[in-house]
Amino acid sequence: MKNFGLNIWSNQNFIIEDGQIKLNYKSMPSLLEITQQIRSNEVRGPILLRFPHLIKKQIRSLYTYFDNAIKVNNYKGTFHAVFPLKVNQFPYAVEAVTQQGKEFNYGLEAGSKAELILAMDKTPKGSNITVNGFKDKEMITLGFIAAQSGHNITLTIEGLGELETIIEVARECKLKVPNIGIRVRLHSSGSGTWAKSGGIDAKFGLTATEIIEAVKLLKEVDLLSKLSMIHFHIGSQMSDIAPLKKALREAGNIYAELRKMGAKELDNINIGGGLAVEYDQHTHSSSRNYSIDEFSSSVVFLLGEIMNAKNVKHPNIFTESGRFIVASHAVLITPVLELFTQDYQEKLLNFKTSNPPLIEELIELNKLLSNQNCIEYLHDALDHMESLLTLFDLGYIDLQDRSNAEILVHNIIKKALYLKSANPTDELEQLQVKLQERYLINASVFQSLPDYWGLGQHFPVMPLHHLNTIPLRAASLWDITCDSDGEIGFNPEKPLYLHDINLDEEDYFLGFFNIGAYQETLGMNHNLFTRPSEYTIVVDDTSYTITNEVESKSILEILNSIGYDKENIFQKLKMDLANSDFITETEKNDTLSKLDTFLKQNGYLRTTN
Ligand SMILES: *Cc1c(COP(=O)(O)O)cnc(C)c1O
Repeated sequence: MKNFGLNIWSNQNFIIEDGQIKLNYKSMPSLLEITQQIRSNEVRGPILLRFPHLIKKQIRSLYTYFDNAIKVNNYKGTFHAVFPLKVNQFPYAVEAVTQQGKEFNYGLEAGSKAELILAMDKTPKGSNITVNGFKDKEMITLGFIAAQSGHNITLTIEGLGELETIIEVARECKLKVPNIGIRVRLHSSGSGTWAKSGGIDAKFGLTATEIIEAVKLLKEVDLLSKLSMIHFHIGSQMSDIAPLKKALREAGNIYAELRKMGAKELDNINIGGGLAVEYDQHTHSSSRNYSIDEFSSSVVFLLGEIMNAKNVKHPNIFTESGRFIVASHAVLITPVLELFTQDYQEKLLNFKTSNPPLIEELIELNKLLSNQNCIEYLHDALDHMESLLTLFDLGYIDLQDRSNAEILVHNIIKKALYLKSANPTDELEQLQVKLQERYLINASVFQSLPDYWGLGQHFPVMPLHHLNTIPLRAASLWDITCDSDGEIGFNPEKPLYLHDINLDEEDYFLGFFNIGAYQETLGMNHNLFTRPSEYTIVVDDTSYTITNEVESKSILEILNSIGYDKENIFQKLKMDLANSDFITETEKNDTLSKLDTFLKQNGYLRTTN
């Protein structure tokens, strides 16, 4: 895994050059360079970088593939997409989506009142708003207000009760009636970790009987012309395309039936989200068995086929992909604060002019170790180590010899582990786990990678630099929360190797990739660690610009946000110090100003890193 699986997960967004990971775009800045520039302003702790051009790339890819499939299949409907806000509601993520999506009329999807308000504020006029999720009368009224204000909005009903409320609001006020969509309860369900959104026992959607009832209701109040969309969503991170095809057949036939029942304005099928992202660093296509090409072709082909067979107008196609659009745009960068196990670094070797024969042999083994001989040489080294320890106990070799032997043997083991990492023996696997290095990262897994904590979702991780040297340490990552779940353990099946770094001499930064979807709002303030400082990086032909800085909340701010009064806390601490004995006024004042500084910084660690 020399390139940390970059060819698998990065979609060519990044490349390795001169030992560093760089953006594979325009002026190609390295992530280390950007990180160092940000940190030169005294920023400490984890940082989150947003790259809007990566959102543009995903949006363009989605449209290109669908528009192409439409052409190739002689399909008569058009393609539209909205971004589901639940995937990332943070201002600069939403801004990136709406700005980068402008030329495509990219819209927004809302699943709650707050998201709907956000959509009403941020959706450019002419783009679509779709609304899913459970709604009360207030939320439905908000939909009417949006329609009245000129938005192209569709309220998708999750049950008959919501439709009754829509009819009630339409009767009570003169506001423009929004378009109405029906979420169908599919017989088929999705696949993968998040596949709970479809199936007979699904949480959402109307059954066949309810759909017929809905049409009847709409006809009665003369609102059938508002029925414009059929919607389904079979779950996030679809690993398999087969359930989607089933769902399409089901929804497509429902659409066709409804048009035949007189729903003349029914024009759109919304296939929800679910397009998967590759998170794996080791094996290709373990996250999904389809490409965006196959996905778009299948959707267009199947819908065309159903409509042609039933002689029904081809519907416009809507998608609500979230993960696929924003996952890649955000990278979390964390400094490493400490390497925990003893340092067996080669540079600490201190040979004598004449070394004991067994040490000379270890030197040779270390030098000549190769893929072919490594198991044999490893056994020799372990055997020599035993002998050398006995010689030490008997007084035949001194402490320097023993230290040299330990360093050499550790190196041989590490190299053997690496050489055999594709195909390790049981013996090596045990050594691997025993010898792993623990890297303390200045971050919180709970705050920044909640899906790892909650679901074991892997995110690609790699160092930003040193990439022209082979990493030899089997690594587990510890965060700085006081919680043993804040650890990304070493997994022998999907091993992570990192570099031996002397942190007294240099910094070492790790990047976590594809974290732009779901992680930010799901993140929590466990131990009162706050959101990382974030920056938007705009890359151009010759350089890059760092914009939209949002600094990590200060210690006082985070306390304030959970209900404490920051002024009271500050005053109390100051008074206690002012009333203390045995230090001079000058010392008191110095300490007070130190305290002031500490409380106004974020709570991540500041020691060297
Ligand atoms: C969550 C959700 C989406 C987004 O799913 P992704 O897997 O992120 O693409 C789309 N539509 C609905 C209705 C959702 O609930």
